[in-house]
Amino acid sequence: FPPASAELNQAALFANQLKPRANNSHKGSFGDVAIVGGARGMAGAAMLTARAALYSGAGRVLVAALDPGPAFDSVQPEIMFRDGATYPLGVGTLVMGPGMGGSALAMDMLARALPGAAALVLDADALNLIGASVDLQKRLGARTAPTILTPHPLEAARLLGISSLEVQRDRLAAARAIANRFNAIVVLKGSGSVIAAPGGAAVINTSGNPGLASAGTGDVLAGICGSLLAQGWPAREAALGAVWIHGTAADRLVSQGIGPIGLCASELPQAVRAVLNEL
Ligand code: AMP
Ligand code: MG
Repeated sequence: FPPASAELNQAALFANQLKPRANNSHKGSFGDVAIVGGARGMAGAAMLTARAALYSGAGRVLVAALDPGPAFDSVQPEIMFRDGATYPLGVGTLVMGPGMGGSALAMDMLARALPGAAALVLDADALNLIGASVDLQKRLGARTAPTILTPHPLEAARLLGISSLEVQRDRLAAARAIANRFNAIVVLKGSGSVIAAPGGAAVINTSGNPGLASAGTGDVLAGICGSLLAQGWPAREAALGAVWIHGTAADRLVSQGIGPIGLCASELPQAVRAVLNEL
């Protein structure tokens, strides 16, 4: 990590992870991602995360749904479904939180996943549950497997026990504090997302635009993070890459007249794919 700077060529920070796909590769070469989320009425968030993981190149994507309602996605039939209550949470790459809700089941799944060996992306409701539970905070801080936290300012405030105004007053300090406290790579989202690692290193992202200020775009970011982790990227490169690619995808859509007004999160995954294939 170089020092925080808005002048940085951020793409150079993860370029060493971009490799051409071997001719003899197969779906197992690009990893599995499981999205843990989708409580009743919130399946859309988990679906956006799953689609983003697929379009950013994961080999296989499944949704471990808290509400075993939908059994398939007619728009994206590649995505598999499992019952979240019985899904094994100790291995692989998991994105936990999008549309997860705050139920006892959600809490129990987090308590089981945090001590495990799975690489984790924790977002949204997972972060809110952790912010409200000292026990989950202890489990998070004790992890040794790769971990990326993607809070927006309010989620960050809950993790730190301060107000979101205080987070926004010094975003670099807030992101670093979360990274240090929980020993994880942190993406503090919002205009100029901050990517911080334990020890204080931080980068301010330069891509993206206000078209991203709409529902579901954070769920897409979490899916890209999980996908890159599943493809073998180290956590800090995955976070740096995901944030830059997500913002660049939004910039690309705006240059095509799709946004900033009315840009929909569900339009991002295809633009993410285009950006990745042009890198
Ligand atoms: P969430 O708050 O979880 O829905 O996530 C919103 C996503 O959109 C994050 O990746 C933010 O960094 C991004 N975002 C929101 N507003 C802006 C903005 N004004 N400029 C750039 N990125 C933004
Ligand atoms: Mg969110």
